[in-house]
Amino acid sequence: MTRKPDEVWKECLDTFRDVVDPPSFKTWFEPVRAMSLETDDAGAKLTVRLPSPFFYEWLEAHYPTLIRKTITKVLGPEGRLVYDVVIEQGDRSSGYGGSGIKLPARPTASEEQTNEMRVDARRQVDSDRGPAAPLQTGPDDGNVTTTTHVMSAVYSNLNPSYTFDRFVEGDCNRLARSASVAIAKQPGKTSFNPFMIYGGVGLGKTHLMQAIGNYAKANDPQYRILYVSSERFTTEFVQAIQHNRVSDFTVFYQSVDLLVIDDAQFFAGKEKTQEEFFHIFNALHQGGKQIVLSADRPPRDIEGIEERLLSRFQWGLAADMQPPDLETRIAILRRKAEDDGLAIDHDVIEFIAHNVKSNIRELEGALIRLLAFSTLNKRDIELVMAKDVLRDLVKDSRINLTIDELQSVVCDYFQIPVDLVCAKTRKREVVRARQVAMYFCKELTQHSLKTIGLHFGGRDHSTVIHANQSVHDQMETDTNFRDMIEELHHKIDLRSR
Ligand code: ADP
Ligand code: MG
Repeated sequence: MTRKPDEVWKECLDTFRDVVDPPSFKTWFEPVRAMSLETDDAGAKLTVRLPSPFFYEWLEAHYPTLIRKTITKVLGPEGRLVYDVVIEQGDRSSGYGGSGIKLPARPTASEEQTNEMRVDARRQVDSDRGPAAPLQTGPDDGNVTTTTHVMSAVYSNLNPSYTFDRFVEGDCNRLARSASVAIAKQPGKTSFNPFMIYGGVGLGKTHLMQAIGNYAKANDPQYRILYVSSERFTTEFVQAIQHNRVSDFTVFYQSVDLLVIDDAQFFAGKEKTQEEFFHIFNALHQGGKQIVLSADRPPRDIEGIEERLLSRFQWGLAADMQPPDLETRIAILRRKAEDDGLAIDHDVIEFIAHNVKSNIRELEGALIRLLAFSTLNKRDIELVMAKDVLRDLVKDSRINLTIDELQSVVCDYFQIPVDLVCAKTRKREVVRARQVAMYFCKELTQHSLKTIGLHFGGRDHSTVIHANQSVHDQMETDTNFRDMIEELHHKIDLRSR
């Protein structure tokens, strides 16, 4: 007697209906379709299709035992259930509907495996999209035995290579790092909730936040962690509105233990999304769950975000990340070279560290480029080669103006005669032009302080240092001044092409 898949599934549904409350049954079980029923040596295998990864999350989070027992009852002790999860076209980056489920690649300890039911999760082929990659569930994907434990984990979007171990500490990130470690050890239990990391691009915000997640996950694999960018959160929320599934969305986000929202500044101007996030934030916070956020500037400077949300961002701890100083840049480069098994001379490391200053992503970019070049050309990495390969990354050679040319751009801008910056005059506007011109000479040329001083009417090197410092200070405190310097920098860039 061959049984049909629908009949078998209907039998299961009858059991579920008896146990599950009617609204939940309607929401979570009725939309599931039986696809096939196969019997092989290992026993019967029923495949059912789930409308979205979110169903899968939900069923496995809420009804694992019920489902397992029912399958055993209906199909026998060897029975297996296979979920085919429909993945909608488009992004697959997080755990909520419309995106693909990617189960953790590492199966958990074997003692946790269930014998009653073996669950085989397979990334579903959307008929017209060709076969998708199989879900990474275990060593043998043909008949994957996955633990219910793994099945019920939220796919957390964590990149396992972003760990504390690989994060080099420096003055620029010390506070953010140590707070992150404290949080990772006891998420939700420190006073750093929410925890906000802010700073410019490429300084390690994402790395650090992911490290919190990875640490917490390693500590307790049951812990539900979700990392998501504010943009991804927004997109999912809009999709949820479109599909009338806002309450699912809310429930899903409120079910995590640690929510990491990257680049929260992109919530700016998105009122509905902010409102939704506000509610999720409150629910998580009240439930003692940890919230970690990042932004590209301090919370008080983020525009277009509701006051009540901004004030919540400041409830816990906000820690800044600064561009790395020279020593940290050297340490990071050494570390990366070591991790990648690269033999790089110290002078090359120093060369990069001295010239690539703005952020860590650029440091990495420089190393990767060197590596690529040396592999392709079968040459060792040495200084001459590095200078050549990194020519355009290195500021000094990109701007190839002389001191005189820089003086003339700056004086043009301030509309004063060039010879005045070299003269003795201490008139306010001349002093300003002189200092700014010295600053650019120091920042953008290879000349020594002494040479620069000489070109400014034979001034001392300490005058150049002072000018440079004073321009830096003003840039810190006066945004108009900073804008002006940036504008000038742009003019210099144009001139040097
Ligand atoms: P952000 O999110 O602030 O833009 P990321 O976290 O993406 O920056 O960091 C950019 C790159 O630099 C990543 O590859 C990251 O691993 C690396 N990185 C940043 N900070 C450090 C650090 N302190 N030690 C080692 N690598 C770092
Ligand atoms: Mg980032």
